[in-house]
Amino acid sequence: MSEEKSVILVTGGSGLVGQAIKTVVDEERKLDTERASKETWIFCSSKDGDLRDKAQTDALFDKYKPTHVIHLAAIVGGLFQNMSHNLEFFRENMAINDNVLHACFKNNVKKVVSCLSTCIFPDKITYPIDETMVHNGLPHPSNYGYSYAKRMVDILNRGYNSQHGCAFTSVIPCNVFGAHDNFSASAAHVVPALVRRMHDALGAGDPTFTVLGTGKPLRQFIYSLDLAKLMIWVLRNYNSVEPIILSVDEDDEVTISDVAEAIKKAYGYRGQIVYDTSKADGQFKKTASNKKLRSLYRDFTFTPFDEAIRETVAWFIQNRDHARL
Ligand code: NDP
Repeated sequence: MSEEKSVILVTGGSGLVGQAIKTVVDEERKLDTERASKETWIFCSSKDGDLRDKAQTDALFDKYKPTHVIHLAAIVGGLFQNMSHNLEFFRENMAINDNVLHACFKNNVKKVVSCLSTCIFPDKITYPIDETMVHNGLPHPSNYGYSYAKRMVDILNRGYNSQHGCAFTSVIPCNVFGAHDNFSASAAHVVPALVRRMHDALGAGDPTFTVLGTGKPLRQFIYSLDLAKLMIWVLRNYNSVEPIILSVDEDDEVTISDVAEAIKKAYGYRGQIVYDTSKADGQFKKTASNKKLRSLYRDFTFTPFDEAIRETVAWFIQNRDHARL
């Protein structure tokens, strides 16, 4: 980023990733006052403007006149929410992305970093997945609406880049978890869903804890604060339209059963974990390679999984009353 003053607008700033970026930025601003004096960060939620609506999106850009944008706002949900709302996930995310990226273009925003996801990659694919494979085949049927809308962000980025020279790029995070996640019983991703249900099981004194599915699928999980640091690094240092995967290493992949055990340990729950194998597992694995990230930022240290789970559980215990449930 340049020496001039920057206004960095974070869409989706009230969500899991947005609040993690805010935490990291707030810490950094205390340590680096010179940078802080040159950067204004604005974290927006849907209350500041519904980005599905073009006029409201344009009004938000008129108000803040951002020089840089981290575009996180999206309709996001877990497996079961996706399966029943593929049409809405497609239409609403398409509208949000088209409105935001076109507003960035019209306002001469210098750099935009948008968010794709490892779950949008083709279902039938060779492993490990890398950044060149985004468009190589059909996504998993459970989340085709979300996947196609996200894939179109890459198409928009390439169009604005090749026709207008815009520095619009995207990151591809693996599964994210941490403070400020959505802990709703019906819409949550697997980590917050299990945290919330373990919390409730403990409160109710249940002797067994049921995990939906076999517990066998493999996933890479990134702690929201680690993703936040990496996204800020991308905003400042990564200068290509090509997406970049932001994920823990392939060796750090864990099973859903490992996740349940880590949460059980964090809570000190003494009951038994059982698996409801009549429920869907989703894609068995989607191992992504972070080789590109490692080639550009070799020394980045990820928070160990158990430690990040402990911090997330501690946050939920402290904040359950005003968490998203
Ligand atoms: P959250 O669901 O936690 O937050 C979503 C954010 O988007 C909120 O700030 C929400 O505002 C905002 N938003 C939703 N709809 C609108 C709208 N119509 N207009 C304006 N703002 C809106 O999402 P995450 O933080 O988990 O995800 C951030 C990004 O990362 C997303 O693009 C997601 O696709 C991507 N991603 C997430 C992963 C994950 O595991 N969570 C994995 C990979 C990628 P409000 O609070 O007002 O509702």
